[in-house]
Amino acid sequence: MESQECVLEAVEELLVKPYVVDVDDVTEDSNRLDLLRRIKDALPKFKATLFVIPALCSLRFLREMREYDWLDLYPHGWRHTEGECAEWTEQDVDQYMDIYLAMGFLGAGFKAAGWRLSADGYRALLGYGWWLADHTDHNAKRPKGLRTYLVDDPGRKFHFHVQNNVFHNGLEESLERILALDKDRDFAFCRDEVRPWKP
Ligand SMILES: [Zn+2]
Repeated sequence: MESQECVLEAVEELLVKPYVVDVDDVTEDSNRLDLLRRIKDALPKFKATLFVIPALCSLRFLREMREYDWLDLYPHGWRHTEGECAEWTEQDVDQYMDIYLAMGFLGAGFKAAGWRLSADGYRALLGYGWWLADHTDHNAKRPKGLRTYLVDDPGRKFHFHVQNNVFHNGLEESLERILALDKDRDFAFCRDEVRPWKP
C-alpha cells in the first residue's frame, strides 16, 4: 500500500507543469538584475525569459546576460516606440532578423513592442519558422502553424515588466507574489512551451 502511494505521488509530480515567467522591456540601463538574482536565491529552480529592447543594449551587456543559464533572451521590437512593429513590412522583418542574429539572438524567438505586429510581420515570422510570444487578444489574426508562446494559463504562466507603473506587473511591484511561488516546482523557458498555433 505504501509503495502504491509512492508511485501515485511520483505520477502526480510528473503531471505538475512547470512555471513559466517572462519579463518585458529589459535594457542595459533598466534590467533589475538585482531583483532577478534575489528571486533566484529564494527559488533555486527559477528561470526567466527576458524580452529585451535591442536598440538600448550593447553587445557586451547582452553577452554578460547570456552567461546566466537561468535567463533566456529574445528581442522585443527594436527601439520599442509606440506601435513600431505594427508598421513593419516583410522587408523590415528580414532586415531586423538579420540584425538580431548578428547581435547574438540565436533562439529564433521574438515579441513585438506592445504586442502589436503587422500582418506582414506575422507572415514573415511564419515563413522563417521563428516563434512569437503573442497576446491571446490576437488569436483571430495569428496565422495557422505559426510557432507561438501564449500567456494563457494563470497561476502557472506569469508576465511581468522590468519597470514599475506600467500594468502593475513590474518586477518590484510583484516581488512578494513571485517569492511566494512553490520553490520545489520546476520552471521552464517560454521556448519550452512554444506550440504551432491551431485556430
Ligand atoms: Zn514592451
